[in-house]
Amino acid sequence: MLAPRLLEPLRETLLTWWQSHGRHDVPWKRHPDGSRPGPGESLDPFGVWVAEVMLQQTQLAVVLPYWHRWMAAFPDLRTLAAASEHDVLMLWQGLGYYARARRLHGGAQRLVAAGGDPWPRTLDGWMALPGIGRSTAGSILSTAFDLAHPILDGNVQRVLARLIAHPGPPKRQLAHFWRLSETVLDPHRPRAFNQALMDLGASLCTPRQPCCGVCPWRGSCAAYAAGDPGRFPVKDTTPPIPFQVIGVGVVRDGEGRVLIDQRLQEGLLGGLWEFPGGKQEPGEAIEATIQRELREELAIEVTVGEQLITLEHAYSHKRLRIVVHLCRWLEGDPQPLASQQVRWVAPQELASYPFPAANARIIAALQARIGAA
Ligand code: SF4
Repeated sequence: MLAPRLLEPLRETLLTWWQSHGRHDVPWKRHPDGSRPGPGESLDPFGVWVAEVMLQQTQLAVVLPYWHRWMAAFPDLRTLAAASEHDVLMLWQGLGYYARARRLHGGAQRLVAAGGDPWPRTLDGWMALPGIGRSTAGSILSTAFDLAHPILDGNVQRVLARLIAHPGPPKRQLAHFWRLSETVLDPHRPRAFNQALMDLGASLCTPRQPCCGVCPWRGSCAAYAAGDPGRFPVKDTTPPIPFQVIGVGVVRDGEGRVLIDQRLQEGLLGGLWEFPGGKQEPGEAIEATIQRELREELAIEVTVGEQLITLEHAYSHKRLRIVVHLCRWLEGDPQPLASQQVRWVAPQELASYPFPAANARIIAALQARIGAA
């Protein structure tokens, strides 16, 4: 743990650096008139909450346009609570990890239903909302209300692990790192300090090749003193990421309509629409996979035609190769045996349904094929 005499110099040097190098132009960190909040002033917690949930799996530069579109459509808690899930998922389309959108929506409905001042001022209050862990709750409380709560996202773990040259993976000693983040936090300027810590991790103390030469903590950093800061944080050996091949059918009927289904609510992509298909079994031809999956999941028979597109898609926990074929419907009234509902739609109507990101490329390939026919 850090010696008490080091704390004030660490805070001072970080905050001085942040004044001129921090990411201050982020809209949810400012008042509506564009001014920056003074110590103890509150910001709109709705905008901060939405941003924090978007940032859980996504980079700031990607989040910014989504945040602006979201706030234009749902400017406050009540508007979001009253929105349909379809509209919420449409606005989230392309951002990935769609459970986050449903949790925001459900959280808004719960806060509105509770009545009174809807905004929690405690960690427990925020962590009672779906999808909010301790670090997100601490970040919301410090950003929105300037309350002294530590944060510990991946960036902060990396910076702190380097600061003390911690000999093990942070994830194995999270309690220790929470104490460290709490110890180093400036109790008089928690909002500014937490934001400075996150900005340091995002701009200088990056995963590869940290910019130690211009870092305000260079003089105190044990990893820098050890001569090899990139070695920290020490990593666990990770098992290989599983790989699967998915066969997908873009099924068309005699009128040129396309068959889509809505996934069940659970899981990362729950509630979104997709083209039907499933996992290839060992030794199975991809055409046979598509026929079998459509029979099992929709109770229909198809002929599998030419390949439309092949996509490689990586999630944090698995990699997929999605092989898409055009199919012709033969017989069977489509049944939602493994989905919420199925629907025949005209190709030009596909844009009105929320699809996972990978499906956008399937739709584009289909439109190009139809246009060329
Ligand atoms: S000196 Fe280098 S390793 Fe240490 S905190 Fe700064 S950027 Fe990170």
